[in-house]
Amino acid sequence: MIQIDYDKNDKDFAEKLLTELQTHTHEIMRFFNIKKVNNFKIKIWRDKQKYVNHLKTFLKNRPYQEWMIAHTYDGNINMLAFDLVQKIECHKDITTQEFIENICHEFVHICQKTVSENSSPQNDNGWYWELLATVLGNPHNFDGWKIPDFSKYSLDDLKNRFDEIDGYPIVFYMGKYLLQTKSPEQLVAWIKNDNQLDADAPTLYKETQKYYQKK
Ligand SMILES: [Zn+2]
Repeated sequence: MIQIDYDKNDKDFAEKLLTELQTHTHEIMRFFNIKKVNNFKIKIWRDKQKYVNHLKTFLKNRPYQEWMIAHTYDGNINMLAFDLVQKIECHKDITTQEFIENICHEFVHICQKTVSENSSPQNDNGWYWELLATVLGNPHNFDGWKIPDFSKYSLDDLKNRFDEIDGYPIVFYMGKYLLQTKSPEQLVAWIKNDNQLDADAPTLYKETQKYYQKK
């Protein structure tokens, strides 16, 4: 049962959210082959400044940016309220469906944390953490995005310059390819084993590049 904290004015929206989330979260848990996840709640923030201050306590060296509308750093799904998100230039066209999928994206992070305590967006393999979250959680947020030119980037960029290069569409398309060619067991195993991921990632990147070159 998902617990959700919201302002009373958001009641209708929160109820709609919960219904839609049930189906998605079950599918995501099935992918991870788990029956339950770490305890968490969804907190919809009504005060943007408070949300930003809370987020900043976890960002360390990563600069805060306006597009950061959700996070799970404290083990909960923290999400800026829908109408506040719509006021942000780069999110001004966000639909309720995309907003819900954004929560699903964060739910994937909860699952990742459940299967592997060390898994985190703050470690070296944060790019892979985002890869699974985009492809399983919010694929429709990438509708209309162009396939990136993989030859212009590298694994090193994903590891060290993720925000600067806007890594999300890159890992999304890489994830789309991996989802078609690898088993869920394998994809989850890489979350649990950083060394194995480090060993396999260069090949995965090359395979992805080759696959999209033909397109
Ligand atoms: Zn994420």
